[in-house]
Amino acid sequence: MNWFGRRSSRGEDELEAWIQRLHEQRVASGQTQPVDPCPDEEFLRGLAKRSRAISLSDARIDHAATCPTCMNRVVALRNENRERNRKLGYALAAAMCLILVAGIFGWFHFSQNRQQTLALAQPVSKTVDLWNAATDRGEQPGQLQSVELPAAVVRLTVILPRFSPSGEYLIAVTRKEDGTGVVAEGLAPTDAAGQQERISVALDLRTVTAGAYFLSTTHEQDQAAYYYPLRIK
Ligand SMILES: [Zn+2]
Repeated sequence: MNWFGRRSSRGEDELEAWIQRLHEQRVASGQTQPVDPCPDEEFLRGLAKRSRAISLSDARIDHAATCPTCMNRVVALRNENRERNRKLGYALAAAMCLILVAGIFGWFHFSQNRQQTLALAQPVSKTVDLWNAATDRGEQPGQLQSVELPAAVVRLTVILPRFSPSGEYLIAVTRKEDGTGVVAEGLAPTDAAGQQERISVALDLRTVTAGAYFLSTTHEQDQAAYYYPLRIK
Protein backbone atom coordinates (compact mmCIF):
# COMPACT_ATOMS: atom_id res chain seq x y z
CA MET A 1 0.00 0.00 0.00
CA ASN A 2 1.24 3.44 -0.90
CA TRP A 3 -0.09 5.95 1.58
CA PHE A 4 0.95 9.02 -0.25
CA GLY A 5 0.61 8.13 -3.89
CA ARG A 6 3.83 9.58 -5.20
CA ARG A 7 7.47 8.76 -5.58
CA SER A 8 9.34 9.27 -2.38
CA SER A 9 12.82 9.59 -1.00
CA ARG A 10 14.49 6.85 0.96
CA GLY A 11 13.75 8.35 4.39
CA GLU A 12 10.15 8.86 3.43
CA ASP A 13 9.89 5.27 2.23
CA GLU A 14 11.29 4.06 5.54
CA LEU A 15 8.66 5.93 7.54
CA GLU A 16 5.92 4.79 5.22
CA ALA A 17 7.06 1.15 5.37
CA TRP A 18 7.22 1.42 9.13
CA ILE A 19 3.66 2.72 9.38
CA GLN A 20 2.50 -0.05 7.09
CA ARG A 21 4.27 -2.74 9.09
CA LEU A 22 2.72 -1.47 12.29
CA HIS A 23 -0.66 -1.42 10.62
CA GLU A 24 -0.28 -5.03 9.40
CA GLN A 25 0.85 -6.18 12.83
CA ARG A 26 -2.19 -4.56 14.41
CA VAL A 27 -4.55 -6.14 11.91
CA ALA A 28 -2.82 -9.56 12.30
CA SER A 29 -3.14 -9.45 16.06
CA GLY A 30 -6.77 -8.43 15.80
CA GLN A 31 -6.01 -5.22 17.65
CA THR A 32 -7.74 -2.69 15.43
CA GLN A 33 -8.74 -0.17 18.05
CA PRO A 34 -6.24 2.59 18.78
CA VAL A 35 -4.92 2.64 22.31
CA ASP A 36 -3.64 6.13 23.11
CA PRO A 37 -5.47 9.39 22.53
CA CYS A 38 -5.01 10.96 19.05
CA PRO A 39 -1.78 12.96 18.67
CA ASP A 40 -1.96 16.67 17.93
CA GLU A 41 -2.38 18.18 14.47
CA GLU A 42 1.28 19.21 14.26
CA PHE A 43 2.42 15.61 14.58
CA LEU A 44 -0.06 14.47 11.92
CA ARG A 45 1.19 17.24 9.63
CA GLY A 46 4.72 15.97 10.16
CA LEU A 47 3.54 12.50 9.34
CA ALA A 48 1.77 13.75 6.21
CA LYS A 49 4.98 15.48 5.14
CA ARG A 50 6.90 12.33 6.12
CA SER A 51 9.10 14.56 8.20
CA ARG A 52 12.52 13.18 9.04
CA ALA A 53 12.12 14.78 12.46
CA ILE A 54 9.71 12.01 13.43
CA SER A 55 11.46 9.05 15.00
CA LEU A 56 10.33 5.59 13.91
CA SER A 57 10.14 4.60 17.57
CA ASP A 58 7.60 7.33 18.28
CA ALA A 59 4.60 5.62 19.84
CA ARG A 60 2.28 8.05 18.09
CA ILE A 61 3.09 6.38 14.76
CA ASP A 62 1.83 3.18 16.30
CA HIS A 63 -1.39 4.94 17.14
CA ALA A 64 -1.81 6.63 13.77
CA ALA A 65 -1.33 3.31 11.95
CA THR A 66 -4.44 1.88 13.61
CA CYS A 67 -6.59 4.97 14.10
CA PRO A 68 -8.90 5.62 11.12
CA THR A 69 -9.46 9.21 12.30
CA CYS A 70 -5.72 9.94 12.31
CA MET A 71 -5.12 8.10 9.06
CA ASN A 72 -7.92 10.00 7.29
CA ARG A 73 -6.47 13.24 8.59
CA VAL A 74 -2.97 12.29 7.37
CA VAL A 75 -4.28 11.42 3.90
CA ALA A 76 -6.28 14.69 3.78
CA LEU A 77 -3.22 16.70 4.85
CA ARG A 78 -1.13 14.84 2.31
CA ASN A 79 -3.57 15.78 -0.47
CA GLU A 80 -3.54 19.39 0.71
CA ASN A 81 0.24 19.40 0.50
CA ARG A 82 0.13 17.98 -3.00
CA GLU A 83 -2.43 20.56 -4.09
CA ARG A 84 -0.31 23.32 -2.60
CA ASN A 85 2.79 22.04 -4.37
CA ARG A 86 0.87 21.85 -7.62
CA LYS A 87 -0.34 25.45 -7.22
CA LEU A 88 3.15 26.54 -6.27
CA GLY A 89 4.39 24.89 -9.45
CA TYR A 90 1.82 26.79 -11.53
CA ALA A 91 2.64 30.04 -9.76
CA LEU A 92 6.34 29.50 -10.42
CA ALA A 93 5.70 28.75 -14.08
CA ALA A 94 3.47 31.82 -14.35
CA ALA A 95 6.11 33.99 -12.66
CA MET A 96 8.76 32.73 -15.06
CA CYS A 97 6.48 33.47 -18.02
CA LEU A 98 5.94 36.99 -16.67
CA ILE A 99 9.66 37.56 -16.28
CA LEU A 100 10.23 36.29 -19.80
CA VAL A 101 7.49 38.51 -21.26
CA ALA A 102 8.73 41.52 -19.28
CA GLY A 103 12.24 40.81 -20.54
CA ILE A 104 11.09 40.66 -24.16
CA PHE A 105 9.05 43.86 -23.77
CA GLY A 106 11.98 45.58 -22.08
CA TRP A 107 14.29 44.54 -24.86
CA PHE A 108 11.87 45.77 -27.55
CA HIS A 109 11.40 49.05 -25.74
CA PHE A 110 15.14 49.50 -25.37
CA SER A 111 15.91 48.75 -29.00
CA GLN A 112 13.04 50.95 -30.21
CA ASN A 113 14.19 53.84 -28.03
CA ARG A 114 17.66 53.39 -29.40
CA GLN A 115 16.35 53.50 -32.96
CA GLN A 116 14.32 56.62 -32.18
CA THR A 117 17.35 58.28 -30.62
CA LEU A 118 19.43 57.38 -33.64
CA ALA A 119 16.69 58.62 -35.97
CA LEU A 120 16.62 61.92 -34.07
CA ALA A 121 20.37 62.26 -34.14
CA GLN A 122 20.50 61.29 -37.80
CA PRO A 123 20.85 64.66 -39.59
CA VAL A 124 18.23 65.63 -42.14
CA SER A 125 19.85 67.08 -45.25
CA LYS A 126 18.34 70.35 -46.49
CA THR A 127 19.46 72.82 -49.09
CA VAL A 128 18.48 76.48 -49.10
CA ASP A 129 19.05 78.15 -52.44
CA LEU A 130 19.67 81.88 -52.05
CA TRP A 131 21.29 82.19 -55.45
CA ASN A 132 18.62 84.54 -56.75
CA ALA A 133 17.98 86.27 -53.43
CA ALA A 134 18.63 89.99 -53.24
CA THR A 135 21.75 90.95 -51.33
CA ASP A 136 21.46 94.73 -51.35
CA ARG A 137 21.36 95.83 -47.75
CA GLY A 138 18.02 97.20 -46.73
CA GLU A 139 16.20 95.40 -49.50
CA GLN A 140 13.62 92.93 -48.33
CA PRO A 141 14.10 89.48 -49.82
CA GLY A 142 10.36 89.16 -50.35
CA GLN A 143 10.32 86.98 -53.44
CA LEU A 144 12.47 84.32 -51.78
CA GLN A 145 11.51 80.70 -52.06
CA SER A 146 9.79 79.57 -48.91
CA VAL A 147 12.46 78.17 -46.62
CA GLU A 148 11.22 75.45 -44.32
CA LEU A 149 13.25 73.30 -41.92
CA PRO A 150 12.18 70.42 -39.68
CA ALA A 151 12.70 70.53 -35.90
CA ALA A 152 15.56 68.02 -36.14
CA VAL A 153 19.29 67.88 -36.52
CA VAL A 154 19.68 69.49 -39.93
CA ARG A 155 22.69 69.28 -42.19
CA LEU A 156 22.02 72.56 -43.96
CA THR A 157 23.63 73.51 -47.23
CA VAL A 158 23.21 77.17 -48.15
CA ILE A 159 23.81 78.26 -51.73
CA LEU A 160 24.88 81.87 -51.23
CA PRO A 161 23.43 84.70 -53.32
CA ARG A 162 25.11 85.55 -56.60
CA PHE A 163 28.38 87.52 -56.19
CA SER A 164 28.80 86.54 -52.55
CA PRO A 165 32.44 86.57 -51.45
CA SER A 166 34.08 83.34 -50.37
CA GLY A 167 35.35 82.81 -46.80
CA GLU A 168 33.97 81.84 -43.43
CA TYR A 169 30.27 82.38 -42.83
CA LEU A 170 28.20 82.18 -39.73
CA ILE A 171 24.84 80.60 -40.49
CA ALA A 172 22.26 81.22 -37.77
CA VAL A 173 18.60 80.67 -37.06
CA THR A 174 17.24 83.61 -35.09
CA ARG A 175 13.91 84.65 -33.69
CA LYS A 176 14.21 88.27 -34.79
CA GLU A 177 15.33 89.98 -37.96
CA ASP A 178 17.89 92.03 -36.00
CA GLY A 179 19.86 88.89 -35.21
CA THR A 180 18.73 88.48 -31.59
CA GLY A 181 17.31 85.27 -30.20
CA VAL A 182 19.71 82.85 -31.79
CA VAL A 183 18.33 79.30 -31.57
CA ALA A 184 21.06 77.54 -33.56
CA GLU A 185 24.18 78.48 -35.49
CA GLY A 186 27.15 77.05 -37.27
CA LEU A 187 30.37 78.42 -38.73
CA ALA A 188 31.86 77.04 -41.94
CA PRO A 189 34.00 78.10 -44.89
CA THR A 190 32.53 78.40 -48.35
CA ASP A 191 32.99 75.67 -50.89
CA ALA A 192 32.90 76.69 -54.53
CA ALA A 193 30.73 74.67 -56.92
CA GLY A 194 31.04 76.27 -60.37
CA GLN A 195 30.02 79.89 -59.96
CA GLN A 196 28.20 79.20 -56.71
CA GLU A 197 29.54 79.49 -53.21
CA ARG A 198 28.10 76.96 -50.78
CA ILE A 199 28.27 76.53 -47.03
CA SER A 200 27.36 73.41 -45.15
CA VAL A 201 26.62 73.49 -41.41
CA ALA A 202 24.92 71.25 -38.89
CA LEU A 203 22.08 72.90 -36.96
CA ASP A 204 20.45 71.21 -33.97
CA LEU A 205 16.82 72.35 -34.15
CA ARG A 206 15.40 69.47 -32.07
CA THR A 207 14.30 71.67 -29.17
CA VAL A 208 13.08 74.55 -31.33
CA THR A 209 9.32 75.09 -31.30
CA ALA A 210 7.59 75.34 -34.64
CA GLY A 211 7.01 78.83 -35.98
CA ALA A 212 8.48 81.75 -37.90
CA TYR A 213 12.19 82.47 -37.64
CA PHE A 214 14.99 84.02 -39.69
CA LEU A 215 17.94 82.44 -41.36
CA SER A 216 21.00 84.69 -41.39
CA THR A 217 24.28 84.57 -43.21
CA THR A 218 27.16 86.66 -41.88
CA HIS A 219 30.52 86.91 -43.59
CA GLU A 220 33.35 86.75 -41.07
CA GLN A 221 35.19 89.77 -42.49
CA ASP A 222 32.66 92.33 -43.60
CA GLN A 223 30.24 91.29 -40.82
CA ALA A 224 27.32 92.09 -43.10
CA ALA A 225 24.39 89.93 -42.11
CA TYR A 226 21.50 89.00 -44.36
CA TYR A 227 18.21 87.69 -43.04
CA TYR A 228 15.75 85.48 -44.82
CA PRO A 229 12.38 84.40 -43.48
CA LEU A 230 12.34 80.82 -42.35
CA ARG A 231 9.69 78.49 -41.03
CA ILE A 232 10.37 75.59 -38.67
CA LYS A 233 7.74 72.88 -38.61
ZN1 LIG B 1 -6.16 8.79 16.33
